[in-house]
Amino acid sequence: MRLPKFTHHQPTRIEDAIHALADNPGAKAVAGGTDLLVNMKHRVELPPALVSLSRIDELRGIRREGDATVIGACTTLKEIQRDEELGRKFPALVQAAMAVGSYRHQTMGTLAGNLCQNTRCRFFNQSWEWRRVRSLCFKAGGEDCHVVGKKNICFSTYSGDMAPALLVLNAAIRIQGPQGISHIPLADLFSGQGKSPLALASAHIVTAVVIPEASGNGLSHYEKFSLRDSIDFPIVGAAVWRENGSVRVAFTAVDRAPVRAQAIEAALQGQKLTGPAIEKAASLAAKSVKLVPTTIHPVAFKRDIMASLFIRAVRALG
Ligand SMILES: Cc1cc2nc3c(=O)[nH]c(=O)nc-3n(C[C@H](O)[C@H](O)[C@H](O)COP(=O)(O)OP(=O)(O)OC[C@H]3O[C@@H](n4cnc5c(N)ncnc54)[C@H](O)[C@@H]3O)c2cc1C
Repeated sequence: MRLPKFTHHQPTRIEDAIHALADNPGAKAVAGGTDLLVNMKHRVELPPALVSLSRIDELRGIRREGDATVIGACTTLKEIQRDEELGRKFPALVQAAMAVGSYRHQTMGTLAGNLCQNTRCRFFNQSWEWRRVRSLCFKAGGEDCHVVGKKNICFSTYSGDMAPALLVLNAAIRIQGPQGISHIPLADLFSGQGKSPLALASAHIVTAVVIPEASGNGLSHYEKFSLRDSIDFPIVGAAVWRENGSVRVAFTAVDRAPVRAQAIEAALQGQKLTGPAIEKAASLAAKSVKLVPTTIHPVAFKRDIMASLFIRAVRALG
């Protein structure tokens, strides 16, 4: 499959990347390209211009800033896996990085690219030849969501592995745009809309992920369930963090954005993690999400997997 035509910009400074995005309406940032270029080959995304972030040195690397660990947006998933300190402090993050796609996705794919990846659906992530036999879905420019049979709505599913791990670590995102630098909680990066899943203003990029050192005081773990051990998006992914009587839980691949499982967290607040308490909390796993069959897997099956992965992840904390 060939790429469509586009112009290509390769800035070496963040400011120049932002100018290039602002000067080229519809342009997109590209980091490792492992998500975006595949979507372009399928003609599901057709940006007229790409602004590569891969030559901007400031966007790479893992460093300590005050009471936080800061990971540059273009740090690759392999670099995250190889960092011993991250593994010690934030095991869920490294486990999630190891769970992404294949070796090649991990060496090319970047942290921000993973977080900012497009949502997925069995009616959307298909070749043009496959999609042209029926009317276009809402996300692709038509009117109807083929999954739920309603107009002007899109349920395509967010399937990134890194987001749930970072959600339970209470991570924030550093964003830079024409007006300067700002920080937002990671959860606010996601719009909750399948059609435009990111709440990132135009000509803005993620420059870093900021994890509070305090999150390293707790235990964390990430569990993924997929059909194949390699090169597969999660059918469900679950991250858990625990410190004393506090538990944080997040899921991916179950809704239009990664979600914190607030019902589980509330049920376990101040509780001892005994077998019955964990089982009872697991029954609340699907309460915070809108599960619809955007993949071939039935909703009831995914609900069960959410509960099982949560139990597995909590037990792995020890
Ligand atoms: C076969 C296959 C299997 C895969 N399996 C998995 C999997 O198991 N788990 C998983 O999580 N992902 C998976 N992916 C998706 C993808 O490979 C990874 O998410 C990867 O980490 C994306 O990173 P990237 O740097 O290549 O992103 P890119 O493709 O470069 O970019 C992805 C999106 O993020 C935006 N973007 C990139 N950097 C920034 C930035 N700094 N600021 C703002 N926006 C930015 C781009 O504009 C684009 O929209 C898979 C992809 C394929 C093709």
